[in-house]
Amino acid sequence: MSDFSECALKTIQAIFDSLDLGMALVDLEYNFILVNGLFCEFFAVNDLKDRKCYELIYNRKSPCVPCIPRLFEKVGKTVERTIMAPEDSWATYLEVKEYLLKVDEVLRGYLIVVRDVSEKKKVEETLKEQALFDSLTGAYNKRVFYEYLAMLMESARRYEEPLSVAVFDIDDFKKINDTYGHLFGDRVLFEFAKIVRNNIRRSDVFGRIGGEEFAVIFPKTNIDGAFVVAERIRQEIEAHLFVHATKVTVSIGLAQMKKEDTPETLIARADGALYKAKRSGKNQVVIAD
Ligand code: GH3
Ligand code: MG
Ligand code: MG
Repeated sequence: MSDFSECALKTIQAIFDSLDLGMALVDLEYNFILVNGLFCEFFAVNDLKDRKCYELIYNRKSPCVPCIPRLFEKVGKTVERTIMAPEDSWATYLEVKEYLLKVDEVLRGYLIVVRDVSEKKKVEETLKEQALFDSLTGAYNKRVFYEYLAMLMESARRYEEPLSVAVFDIDDFKKINDTYGHLFGDRVLFEFAKIVRNNIRRSDVFGRIGGEEFAVIFPKTNIDGAFVVAERIRQEIEAHLFVHATKVTVSIGLAQMKKEDTPETLIARADGALYKAKRSGKNQVVIAD
């Protein structure tokens, strides 16, 4: 049972019902005392009896760390998280804020405020997609890279010109992140991209197609020409002293376009060669059959 009087609860319920937010009052045992209609809609539930807040909101079997009273007291801040709404909710993303409810310096429970942020998330995603470049490395993002690839392959087919691609994957990058931290890893990616860009022509297309995976399109270039460039990049990366004098190596897979190739099959063949390079000891360039 909660410490709230009947009158207080009725007043809070009236306030909850007047708001355009999902609202819930939770006691110290994480049981719901009061909720409003919007809160139930957000989580697609009717009956909150015997439901714990951490189980309903976060699918957890035990209280979340920040809501263990002694920890929350220490942190002393609002906890704010964006989560995926349940599948049968009309919302997609929900922002959940939790507040410690103290009355006369005594902790009485938690106040949970939920807002639908699906639209905001959608806009953010679109903006990210619309950006042509990856902000860290300045390489084209995956979508733009594939658009270029389709266009350049079409042109190569029409004019019967060669076209080759290279796929790069930094060796043991996880170890670099684990040893020096993610920020340092980002620094390595930045420098790596710079070296690649310095070694290719302006007419070549450089893209970031994964976390630490990059690719280059070499138009009007056969596999021998692509090999020369790829090998030069591999050697330069190997010789370069990255921040903290760290050594980094890269494995590279190459493929030349065949008549029947699509962008996906061409990259897949280069990826196959890259996989071979990894299996044969990394730090090497392998050409696809
Ligand atoms: P392998 O030699 O087989 O490629 O080993 P690896 O450790 O590089 O393995 P893998 O390619 O699977 O790991 C890639 C790692 O790159 C995992 C991921 O945490 C990290 N990563 C991906 N994107 C980024 C990023 O933007 N910044 C940083 N710092 N790390 C990233
Ligand atoms: Mg990888
Ligand atoms: Mg890797």
